[in-house]
Amino acid sequence: MPVDVLERAARELPDWDGSGASVMEQSHRGKRFIAMAAQAEADLRRLLTVPDDYAVLFLQGGATQQFALIPMNLAGPGDSADYIDSGHWSEKAISEAAPYVRVNVAASGKHDAYRRLPARDSWQLDPHAAYVHYTPNETIHGVEFHDIPEVGDVPLVADMSSNILSEPLDVSRFGLIYAGAQKNIGPSGLVVMIIRRDLLQRAGRPMARIFRYAEQAAHDSMLNTPNTWGWYLAGLTFQWLLAQGGLEAMAGRNRAKAERLYRAIDGSGGYYRNRIERSARSRMNIPFTLHDSALDAVFLQESEAAGLLALKGHKALGGMRASLYNAVPLEAVEALVEFMGDFSRRHG
Ligand code: PMP
Repeated sequence: MPVDVLERAARELPDWDGSGASVMEQSHRGKRFIAMAAQAEADLRRLLTVPDDYAVLFLQGGATQQFALIPMNLAGPGDSADYIDSGHWSEKAISEAAPYVRVNVAASGKHDAYRRLPARDSWQLDPHAAYVHYTPNETIHGVEFHDIPEVGDVPLVADMSSNILSEPLDVSRFGLIYAGAQKNIGPSGLVVMIIRRDLLQRAGRPMARIFRYAEQAAHDSMLNTPNTWGWYLAGLTFQWLLAQGGLEAMAGRNRAKAERLYRAIDGSGGYYRNRIERSARSRMNIPFTLHDSALDAVFLQESEAAGLLALKGHKALGGMRASLYNAVPLEAVEALVEFMGDFSRRHG
């Protein structure tokens, strides 16, 4: 999270908004909290130019819960849904959806070890599908779509957990966008969802009200006590993003950060390697390996000692991974690149 946001939250923790108590101690039905929540939504709408015919929801339970709730809300009995499998998180979305909808894996990058996106002309989309689900950025595999797939009239559903707010977005191309907050927004547990209002009319399947998007929209995401702390921090992050110049500015920075690191990897003569096809490389998550995996532990130890944290790759892939979310400044990437150069000279 941006240091400015953390510092402001720390300052405001004991006495938020002149209330004499922390934001977590406010009633979510109180004037102060309602005003803050509305401002957070307005700021998110401004950042992403969210059209009026979309509802914005602040939900709980993480993105994984949405893997199941999306089919439960959007698909009726007997319906099928198309899924694009581009890596670990797509696979999870597929397996969690399978009990609730007939899943058609319309395309998969699995046979390429998810090193590229499945070729667009290979997608077997069904024009009668309830929706098409895809993962624009695969956090673990480090592959990213750099355009929005054209899927005709079928609503496009996107898990933007790891790339939301990293660049401007044409929301009108989507039926539903959702994101676990813990990368570019705020604390884990909170989910931000942007859903086209007509999809709220879908019957889905019988289920508890708390899981129903239409109910959440009708009650401003306050069917029960919302994640007040998460909502507040998300609001601070949105304010911070606006103050940075909005998503155009973030896109420029994120591009520069990713280019810097890929240039260092590609220019290392094979010492470091990123195996993702260039056109599908992620700007947010950059996995890389060392030429000799016996050096991995040393790399991690020394990088941590140098103040460069969280570089261990996911256990499914091994190696390293640098996550360059919005809050990571270019200087941090410069420091990593410098460390990598130094490390390769010392351990060559
Ligand atoms: N989707 C993507 C793209 C992710 O990176 C993650 C992990 N943060 C998830 C889903 C799962 O999120 P959560 O842990 O909030 O359920």
